[in-house]
Amino acid sequence: MADTNFDVVIIGGGPGGYNAAVRAGQLGLKAAIVESRGVLGGTCLNVGCMPSKALLHASELFEAASGEFAHIGIEVPAPKLNLIQMMKAKQDSVNALTKGVEFLMKKNKVTYFVGFGKIEGAGKVSVTAADGKVEQLTTKHIVIATGSEPTPLPGVTVDQKQIVDSTGALSLPAVPKHLVVVGAGIIGLELGSVWRRLGAKVTVVEFLDRITPGMDTEVATQFQKILTKQGFAFKLGTKVTSAKTGKSGVSLTLEAAAGGNAETLEADVVLVAIGRRPFTAGLGLDTVGITPDQRGFIATDHFKTSAPGVWAIGDVIHGPMLAHKAEEDAVAVIELIAGKAGHVDYDLVPSVVYTFPEVAWVGKTEDQLKAAGVQYKTGKFPFMANSRAKINHETDGFVKFLADAKTDKVYGVHILGPQAGEMIGEACVLMAFGGASEDLARTCHPHPTRSEAVKQAAMGVEGWTMQA
Ligand SMILES: Cc1cc2nc3c(=O)[nH]c(=O)nc-3n(C[C@H](O)[C@H](O)[C@H](O)COP(=O)(O)OP(=O)(O)OC[C@H]3O[C@@H](n4cnc5c(N)ncnc54)[C@H](O)[C@@H]3O)c2cc1C
Repeated sequence: MADTNFDVVIIGGGPGGYNAAVRAGQLGLKAAIVESRGVLGGTCLNVGCMPSKALLHASELFEAASGEFAHIGIEVPAPKLNLIQMMKAKQDSVNALTKGVEFLMKKNKVTYFVGFGKIEGAGKVSVTAADGKVEQLTTKHIVIATGSEPTPLPGVTVDQKQIVDSTGALSLPAVPKHLVVVGAGIIGLELGSVWRRLGAKVTVVEFLDRITPGMDTEVATQFQKILTKQGFAFKLGTKVTSAKTGKSGVSLTLEAAAGGNAETLEADVVLVAIGRRPFTAGLGLDTVGITPDQRGFIATDHFKTSAPGVWAIGDVIHGPMLAHKAEEDAVAVIELIAGKAGHVDYDLVPSVVYTFPEVAWVGKTEDQLKAAGVQYKTGKFPFMANSRAKINHETDGFVKFLADAKTDKVYGVHILGPQAGEMIGEACVLMAFGGASEDLARTCHPHPTRSEAVKQAAMGVEGWTMQA
C-alpha cells in the first residue's frame, strides 16, 4: 500500500502543481501530487499552451506552403490539409510531454495519486479515484494548484460541437466555414489564427473597443491592423447576448456594448474565449475556513492562504493566468515551505501572443506609465529596418522600450514581430537586474538577428539608434 503521510500534498498537476512537486523532491520534502484528469500537465499541457502551439506551428507552415514558399522560389503543389493527421501529431506531442512530467515525478520521488483531491480539514486530503475508491492522506502542508476553467458567457451554452470553448476549438473535426470568436484576448486570437490559416473565415466579436486588453495600446492598434490584413474581421464594442444553434449553424444576437439595436451574426462554429476563472469546485475549502473572493480567486499573502499550512499558487490565485507564472509561484511556495526565501515579481512576468507575428511584452505599458504620472522616454525600432527581418521577408512590427526619463531604468519592453516570445527573455533579465536601456544598448548582439532590433530600440531611448 502506498504511503499516505507527507510533508506536502499538492492538489493539481498543472505547471503550478508539477513544478512544485519537482522542487519539493529536490529539497528533500516527502511530496505527493493529486490530479483528477488522469494525466499530469494540467490545462497547459493537455488543453492549453502546448496543443495550441502545436496547431499554431502546423497551421503556420500550412499557410506558408500555400503562398510564401513560391515567393522565395520553392514551388510546391497546393498543399492539402489532413486535419486528422494534424490533430494526431498534436496529440502525440502532448502525450510525450505529459509522460515526461510523469517521469519527473518518479525522478524526484513524488507520489502521484490519480483522483480528485478534497481538503478534509487541517492536514488532511482525501483522494477519490474514478472508480469511487477513496484514500486518506495526511500532510504538514497542502498546496492548492487547481488552476482555472473557461469563463462561461451568459446566454451562450457551450456544447463543444457548434459552440466551443478553447478545449473544443483545439479539436474541431473539420474547418468551419465561418468561425466567430467571442473575445479578442490572447486565446481567442491564437485559436482564431489557427482556423483562419486552415481556411475559415474568422470574425472576432469583442465587448471592449480594442483588442488584447493589457497590451500596450500602440502595439495593439498595429497588431489589429496586421491581423485585419491577414483576413480577420473585428466587431469591437459589441456584446453577444444570445446564441441559437440549429442544423445550419449558430445564430448569434449582437448588441453594441453601449446599447442599441440588436443584429444577428451567423456562424458555423462559435468559440467562446472571454477569459478564464479560478477552479475550486468540490475542493473542501470550507473545511479549513477559506472563502474564495467574489471572482473565485483564493486570497494569499506570499502564497499563504488564511488557513495555517494551506498554500495556493497558479491560476487559482491573483496575478497573470500564465503557465510560467504558475511555475515561478511553484518554486517560491516550496522554498517558503522549506524555510528558504521564495519570491515572485509579478511586474516581471512576460506575456506572449503566439500569432504571426508574435507579440511579447514585459513590464509597464505606456498607458500605465501615463496613468501613474511617471516621466519616461521611449526608444523604438521597426523590423522594416532590421536586416534579418528583411532577408526573411517578415518586416511587420517594431520594438519599443520605455525607460525612466531621469535614471534610464527600463519600465517596459514591447515587441511586435516574429519570434517576439523568444526575444523578450533578455528584457526580463535586464529588468530583473534593474537595468537601464543603456545597459542593453551597449551589449553586443549577434548579427544578423532580430534581436538587433531590440538593441537598436534600446539605443533609441538615448536618441542614438544607428540603423533607422
Ligand atoms: C488554449 C489555452 C492556451 C494557453 N496558452 C498559454 C501559453 O501559451 N502560455 C502560458 O503561459 N499560458 C497559457 N495558457 C494558460 C495556462 O494553461 C495556465 O495559466 C496554466 O495551465 C495554469 O497552471 P496551473 O497549474 O495553475 O493550473 P492548471 O494548468 O489549470 O492545472 C490545474 C490542474 O488541477 C486539476 N485539478 C483541479 N481540481 C482538482 C482537484 N480537486 N483534485 C485533483 N486535481 C484537480 C485539474 O484537472 C488540472 O489538471 C493557455 C490556456 C489555454 C486554455
